[in-house]
Amino acid sequence: MPSTEGYIKFTCRHEPAPPPRHPWLPQLCRIRDELRNWQLIGLLPDGIGYGNISARIGDTSRFVITASGTGGEYPIATRHFCEVLSVDIPQNTVTCRGPLPASSESMSHAAVYAARRDTRAVFHIHDRPMFDLLRATGAPQTPPDAAYGTPELARAIGSLASALPAVAMLVMGGHPDGLLAYAPEPRKARDLLWNTYLRSRHAHA
Ligand SMILES: [Zn+2]
Repeated sequence: MPSTEGYIKFTCRHEPAPPPRHPWLPQLCRIRDELRNWQLIGLLPDGIGYGNISARIGDTSRFVITASGTGGEYPIATRHFCEVLSVDIPQNTVTCRGPLPASSESMSHAAVYAARRDTRAVFHIHDRPMFDLLRATGAPQTPPDAAYGTPELARAIGSLASALPAVAMLVMGGHPDGLLAYAPEPRKARDLLWNTYLRSRHAHA
């Protein structure tokens, strides 16, 4: 359903800059390429990229994230990341710097970081078997009417994440096949995704 405040188009304020720096970037690149191999991040048949991974910068609200349009890149490199400096959820606006702009999916990552101080890594992936498995087993999910790219979705993600454990996954009910995994460190989010991936493949065997 349309929101009462109407649809606010996503805006990215992008300042071109060298690739961001982060002590976890080598690890993030390895995990991102694993997710690409599992096709949890990649390209849709129409050539549009899906999925992105991010990590908080220190104790700030800033984070590094794979940039817009990098779903098909393999292997990923630091030049494919950008730094999100700030996010305005009501205005659906992100301010970022780096070689490439941030995607609208940065808003979902930002919502988790804002809701949980202990979250240091967020992965957004697309996968039908996991999406179906998690929905069938009652996993937390955002309302189906909170459409992708809207402030409503970011708010719904924030309120769900704040009530979940430190390592968790949630279903983006209005973003088909869309899932979020987050943790205090990248490895834990990666392992949760992998375990869920295996369960979903057994369930569909
Ligand atoms: Zn998505």
